[in-house]
Amino acid sequence: MLRSVLTRAVPQFSRLSVSRFSAAAIPAPNPQPEVHYNKLFINNEWQDAVSKKTFPTINPSTGAVIYEVAEGDKVDVDKAVKAAKDAFRLGSPWRRMDASQRGMLLHRLADAIERDAAYLAELETLDNGMPYAVAYAVAVPMVLKTLRYYAGWADKWEGKTIPIDGDFFCYTRHEPIGVCGQIIPWNFPLLMQAWKLSPALATGNTVVMKVAEQTPLSALYVANLIKEVGFPPGVVNIISGMGPTAGAAISSHMDIDKVAFTGSTEVGHLIQKASGASNLKKVTLELGGKSPNIILPDANMEDAVDQAHQASFFNQGQVCCAGSRTFVQESIYNEFVERSVERAKKRVVGDPFNLSTEQGAQVDDEQFKKILGYISSGKKEGAKLMCGGGAASDRGYFIQPTIFGDVQDGMTIACEEIFGPVMQVLKFKSIEEVIERANDTQYGLAAAVFTTDINKAQYISNSLRAGTVWINCYNVFGVQAPFGGYKASGIGREMGEYGLEGYTEVKTVTVKIPQKNS
Ligand code: NAD
Ligand code: MG
Repeated sequence: MLRSVLTRAVPQFSRLSVSRFSAAAIPAPNPQPEVHYNKLFINNEWQDAVSKKTFPTINPSTGAVIYEVAEGDKVDVDKAVKAAKDAFRLGSPWRRMDASQRGMLLHRLADAIERDAAYLAELETLDNGMPYAVAYAVAVPMVLKTLRYYAGWADKWEGKTIPIDGDFFCYTRHEPIGVCGQIIPWNFPLLMQAWKLSPALATGNTVVMKVAEQTPLSALYVANLIKEVGFPPGVVNIISGMGPTAGAAISSHMDIDKVAFTGSTEVGHLIQKASGASNLKKVTLELGGKSPNIILPDANMEDAVDQAHQASFFNQGQVCCAGSRTFVQESIYNEFVERSVERAKKRVVGDPFNLSTEQGAQVDDEQFKKILGYISSGKKEGAKLMCGGGAASDRGYFIQPTIFGDVQDGMTIACEEIFGPVMQVLKFKSIEEVIERANDTQYGLAAAVFTTDINKAQYISNSLRAGTVWINCYNVFGVQAPFGGYKASGIGREMGEYGLEGYTEVKTVTVKIPQKNS
């Protein structure tokens, strides 16, 4: 049963779930894990906010408060930056550490997370609302792969020797940028933390990270493991707090050399502006999307329906690269919509600690209301509600898997990121037409095409303005492959070798070579 849930929940991980995570291998979760860490992690010490302020973190499955967490502010960010700067000073233990040893520390962190995987997955489910089966069998394994992949890079990120003109020896060094501010979102708290920390630490930077106010708990537990495995004080500092205060203090800080952000496009603009207005810190951004998923008439229908379902509904629809505009060729439109509705009605929504649940709770009341607002705008603007359309429970933030047919390009639900379990199906006639419509958006994060014709697949893929294109699959992530956006979907790439560039300064060193008789 569990096997089939995982396979259905995330088909691209089916190999992983079948081989490594059979039902017997998933421990029965404790739905009430104890919270051990709720303070700011600065210089390897747990500290209250200077203001002594705290804020409640909520269990989205019930709406109840889980715990009070320290609310860091500008002064706390200043303290963390001081610690990170000190850890980065010339001659510090971190700066003098062998690159291979940095890699070793990342491996040890992965080992500690693997040891505590069940507990971390419980915290993630409690704080975020995602199904435990996904937290344990998908999110945590991806965290481990990310840490271990970048652990391997630590002593392999090589510069070049360059044959410049004249009697010179010229080479490049890949050096860390310095103190990196990292601001992460709530949709995959553990994974976003690992995506940000791994390349930064592999390349020898120090970090001040602000975790999302909706989901601080798992990241704070990982902070404890960072200390346990032996990272020197100040190398990683983790602040829980709000965006406009702690987050803004990071993006405008004069002693932070780089800021990496994942979240809304709206806040992405603010981060870029704050960098420009302060010290021109380097900026990498991973923002929103309105990703087109194009289904041609020759596609394998069953596969296309299932993948389009996952593309829209995985992680409660809270995925930046969600396939939130499903373009279906008119000759197969009716059959596709009918089968998609049938599939959506079967989707198991409910208690995320139940191992057969496919869809848990939306992260908070704000997102819940925002999604319901988009659903009513879809109805008002004339899209055809095919299924769902409301809350799925009388408590907590559960939403029915919802499908809109007859969606037109100009409708709000076809233009804006909904970030919820709402699928938009749009009809098209020709390939040229669908390419133009697919690209007619401010975003460019991801796209997909389903067809059995390789020529069409390549032509469409090359024509789409998006950082990732999937052909006959969706949401397939490899830690080895870069991810990031064209246009307003972002700046820079995360993951893979390209992901190292966002954390590296390139230094050119030129040495005069004395000639024999001079
Ligand atoms: P958000 O962009 O406000 O939050 C993301 C992170 O940025 C959080 O840590 C937040 O505290 C921080 N932040 C907020 N304001 C800030 C500021 N002024 N300066 C610095 N940091 C700041 O996202 P949200 O309000 O939680 O969600 C709103 C929408 O954003 C969602 O509906 C969704 O469309 C999108 N979103 C996208 C992603 C993604 O993965 N790309 C993740 C989360 C949310
Ligand atoms: Mg916000």
